[in-house]
Amino acid sequence: MTTAVFHHPSSLQHDTGIGHPERVERVQVVWRALRSIEGLEWREAPSATPEQIMRVHTSALYDMISVFGEGALDADTVLSEPSFTAALHAAGAVCAAVEAVHAGQIKNAFCAVRPPGHHAEPDQAMGFCLFNNIAVGARQAQALGYPRVAVLDFDVHHGNGTQTAAWNDANFFFASSHQWPHYPGTGAHSERGAYGQIHNAPLPEGCGSGPFRAVWQNELLPALEGFAPDFIFMSAGFDAHLADPLGGLGLTTADFSWLTAQISQIAAKSCAGRVVSSLEGGYNLAALADSTVAHVRALLECP
Ligand SMILES: [Zn+2]
Repeated sequence: MTTAVFHHPSSLQHDTGIGHPERVERVQVVWRALRSIEGLEWREAPSATPEQIMRVHTSALYDMISVFGEGALDADTVLSEPSFTAALHAAGAVCAAVEAVHAGQIKNAFCAVRPPGHHAEPDQAMGFCLFNNIAVGARQAQALGYPRVAVLDFDVHHGNGTQTAAWNDANFFFASSHQWPHYPGTGAHSERGAYGQIHNAPLPEGCGSGPFRAVWQNELLPALEGFAPDFIFMSAGFDAHLADPLGGLGLTTADFSWLTAQISQIAAKSCAGRVVSSLEGGYNLAALADSTVAHVRALLECP
């Protein structure tokens, strides 16, 4: 069994307009870079069903996005006519990846899709995100008989939407490292969820590898092990890279390899290696490509 890459051409149709950092070229460079890795299995992502989306989101949000068409939802979040379709396939990628891991067809998976998802709240699209792909995937795993799900989020921004989706579910673990203070403003250490199953590690701008690895090693990864997940998800944002124009944590590609390997080792021990990762941020194209390759190589090489 190998690592699968889920993708869909609709990721190229979601047009956010000239000058927007969350742009079509992001998936183009990611796909091109991943093609250089031998042994990956490429799979086209299906569309998520309304039922799958509405395990996380309100029907009002679903209906609004389905008919929105072209325009700006807020200052950051811009849609074109095909954006709804792209968003359905982005969430559908994570669901299909869960199903393929569940069926024993693949070892683990990376979803190379856009729009990203972790800022999308159950009732509100925001921060370049329409539907919360990783939370929809986590709910799919629960529906398939993996009650205890964990989302690890290393994007430079806090995954506010995922945190909200997890908040009242004792079986939904969420851990995040992120720059602080920074967009979207949530993610204080004191935000712990209704059952203490949420773990936030805010980091100061410019902290670099040392403090990043320390919070994962000493705080977030031990919490994950203690939770004993049945299925592990990663919100893989690469905007904490030192070359990224939107983030300022100063990480390197080696940090992403390291964390991916650490998480995969816990997955091997606690949940037979069941890991699905999905692309979030990352806005310097060269750093995004290099970081994604490092991340997917670590998924491929994990036990
Ligand atoms: Zn981000």
